Amino acid sequence: MRIPIQEVTPKTETAEVLGWVHEVRDLGGLSFFLIRDRTGILQVTVPKKKVGEEVLAAIRDVSRESLVRVAGTVKAIEKAPGGRELIPREFEVISRSQSPLPLDVVEKVPAELDTRLDARFLDTRRPRVAAIFQIRSSVMQAISEFLYARGFVNIVSPKIVAAATEGGTELFPIAYFEKEAFLNQSPQLYKQLMMGAGFEKVFEIGPIFRAEEHNTTKHLNEATSIDIEVSFADHHEVMQILEELIVYVYQEVNAHCAASLEAMEIGPLPVPKIPFRRLPYTDAIWMAASATGEPIKYGDDIGTAAEKAIGEIIGEHYFIVDWPTEIKPYYALPYEDNPAVCKAFDLMHPRMELSSGSQRVHQHDLLEDQIRLKGLSPESFEFYLEPFRYGMPPHAGWGLGVERLIMTMLSLGNIREAVLFPRDRHRLTP
Ligand code: ATP
Ligand code: MN
Repeated sequence: MRIPIQEVTPKTETAEVLGWVHEVRDLGGLSFFLIRDRTGILQVTVPKKKVGEEVLAAIRDVSRESLVRVAGTVKAIEKAPGGRELIPREFEVISRSQSPLPLDVVEKVPAELDTRLDARFLDTRRPRVAAIFQIRSSVMQAISEFLYARGFVNIVSPKIVAAATEGGTELFPIAYFEKEAFLNQSPQLYKQLMMGAGFEKVFEIGPIFRAEEHNTTKHLNEATSIDIEVSFADHHEVMQILEELIVYVYQEVNAHCAASLEAMEIGPLPVPKIPFRRLPYTDAIWMAASATGEPIKYGDDIGTAAEKAIGEIIGEHYFIVDWPTEIKPYYALPYEDNPAVCKAFDLMHPRMELSSGSQRVHQHDLLEDQIRLKGLSPESFEFYLEPFRYGMPPHAGWGLGVERLIMTMLSLGNIREAVLFPRDRHRLTP
């Protein structure tokens, strides 16, 4: 019976394992193999004089990254990984690997990200890369647990849509019979529709598609978004949910992913302290201007350089609040007593934006006006506007990018590291 490599200990008498040949070393009378499965690495030592002809034939034939089955006796030995080695009675090549490998799994020579992504199945055999996706899986589990525990209902909105969420050019058109259609850039309109449907608290975790023209280290063309929408809530309440969620996720990763963090050579994550600072937009642009020396005026967006400058000063997560209404989407609710400013916020990691949210406009006529003010036509939003005429509750929500969360949490240099098969300006395969 096959056991995971992790379960082979110096106390195990015999073991049978299935794994990939990580490294081979031949010292004449003695051959050493490191065999790897997703749980760990095991040294297999073959004293050539003491093993049968079948074992000898198999080890002559074996190449690195071949899948092998090895069964034999376990011995304690100090110098081997895990303090044990396996002396094979049986050694069988189950699935042979060709040589040369498109990518070296043993990270002796660091490979370019592009080369790694081209051979992603081999890249993800690397323990430190596999660890990212083990952690990502735990993050997704933690997020769902957190939201279910607070009474959220999980919804699925369509990804093929007729209208842009926010207009603009970030849309991928698709061939949809005789109609014009697009891949959805955000579940925004649909989660708001479900407030009109009386669902009160919804969340969706799903793909968003953005035709980002430029190659950056923090933009993908297909990303994963965690979206929530909450009725009878204002922007303050959903900001609090967001910061508590971030803390919960960090804690859960520390509690469940120690081995993965170790494989990445990072210790327990420092858990961010809440409440996060609420930095008004006017202070943010002032901070950025004085730190960078670049003029930023009221009404400008906060670009990458400004984000970075403010992040360096603050050094931890923070919110930028009270944005000018004109630079936030039409669905962000202006303050009643100062309509030039709206109840929108961005959650920032020192390195970049993680999330945007707001209390939403729930008054039909105001929403229609704001859509027009953005130069969009309310007619193309009729399906969205309709529920606002039939008892729409006040509501608020946010969207949080999964890859940016993982990237900042694990200090990854490029957002592509946080996706198995990234889609960017130049990459459509694998
Ligand atoms: P940015 O200004 O950084 O490009 P954005 O303001 O356009 O982001 P939003 O429309 O506010 O993004 O989307 C909400 C969240 O979704 C973002 O804060 C981010 O975490 C994530 N997100 C948006 N676009 C992308 C993308 N192209 N790649 C990866 N994540 C994205
Ligand atoms: Mn945003």
